[in-house]
Parts: sequence; structure tokens; C-alpha cells
Amino acid sequence: MRKSLTLLIMVVLLSLILGGLFINNLGVNKNTGNGVGCTRTEPYPIPEEFKRSVSLIIQRQGQNQHQQIKDYSQLVDKYINCLNIQYYTDGTELENADGYFKFDRNSSVNNLQIFVSPKYTTKDDLLTALLLQHEISHAIYQAQGLAQNNAESCFIDEARAFSSQAALLGSFNEEERNSLVARSRTSKNVASFFAMMMPFSVNPKQDRTKNAFDEANTIMVVKGIPEYVNQCSNRYN
Ligand SMILES: [Zn+2]
Repeated sequence: MRKSLTLLIMVVLLSLILGGLFINNLGVNKNTGNGVGCTRTEPYPIPEEFKRSVSLIIQRQGQNQHQQIKDYSQLVDKYINCLNIQYYTDGTELENADGYFKFDRNSSVNNLQIFVSPKYTTKDDLLTALLLQHEISHAIYQAQGLAQNNAESCFIDEARAFSSQAALLGSFNEEERNSLVARSRTSKNVASFFAMMMPFSVNPKQDRTKNAFDEANTIMVVKGIPEYVNQCSNRYN
């Protein structure tokens, strides 16, 4: 990424997140209730860094001024004992992914399996929390029975996952945001993550009246990203 572009992203991003984000749809489903199905009373033995990141997700969003983001924080908390988050081992079919949510015959609402790249052992809790937020959103979408076997549902699922990441980014405190912005100047990966988040972020100064960035717009953004066209359209054709 060229320097001028990186700088532009930083300026826009800083004004977005300092203004405070709000996200219209976080996948909180009122009809199916909160934490439906998760009956485990003990957490899975997951690495300490994942425990810290999940608790950061819950705490920061719980402190967000927007009720919808607070509600989402509670929803994650309801599923906390059912999140089975582990590093994947090298050589698996999805080894290029930073993380993925896997729902197969071994899965259930009580066993929501999330796999994270071993390269995250050296990342800090902020970046790990942002990654986990995306995958946890997929897990909750499945657990709440919202996932359907078609391309449209796949696009909606991704749109919600990205919106939830933007909401977490906007829930971090000033020190944490400054730390991420500083890192984006030296890390190409962090800079491109922020570049990717921009279309999913809302500048409240633009439209405070109607939560301008609704689900339909978010889905349109996902439908414009070739990786997701590949993942969602091609899989169900
Ligand atoms: Zn995803």
C-alpha cells in the first residue's frame, strides 16, 4: 500500500472512530432470544489470550453508549461457555485463513468451534479480539438458527460479522485506538484491515437521524468483495 493512501486511510479512520461508531444491525435476534441453546455451565479450556480477548469484547461493548452494542455484548456473554476457540495446526485445508468458524457434524450450539491461525500467538489482544469478534458473530448467527443453506444468507452472515467488527473498533477506548492507529503505520496487515473496515464504519456526523448504514447497504458492500462473491455465490451454485 502506498504511503499517501495509508495516510488518507488513517485520517478518515481516526475521524470515524473518534466520532464514535454506531452500527444498525448486529445480528441480535429478538425472536429467538438471547443465548438460546447454550446450556454449558463451564467454559472450554481455551488459551489464556483468547479468554482475555473475549472478555475485552464483552467489556468494551458493554461500555458502549449505544444500546444495541450493549445488547450484543450481553449476547456474546450468554454464549461464552459454548465458544470452543483453539489454534488450528499447520497443514489444514484453511491454513491461509486468520480464523474461521466451523460448523460440522461434531458441532452443536454447545460446541461452537472457532479456529485461529497459529500466527496469532504473537499478536496482541486488540487484534485477536477484532478477529474473534468476526468469528463469534458467525457462531451466534448459526446458534440462533439464522444460517440458511443459500448464498443470500451467507452474504448476510458476513455483513453482520463485519458490522460487529466495526462496532468493536468503535468501542475501544482512546488509548487502544491510538495503539491500533500507530501500528497501522508500521504494519501492512493492520493498515489493510482498517482499509477493509472503512465501508462498514459509520460516520455519525453524516447522518445521526436514521442509523444510515443499514443491513441492505452492508450486504451490498460484501457483495462487492471478490473473496465473498467466491465464498457465498459459488458455493451455492
Ligand atoms: Zn466471515
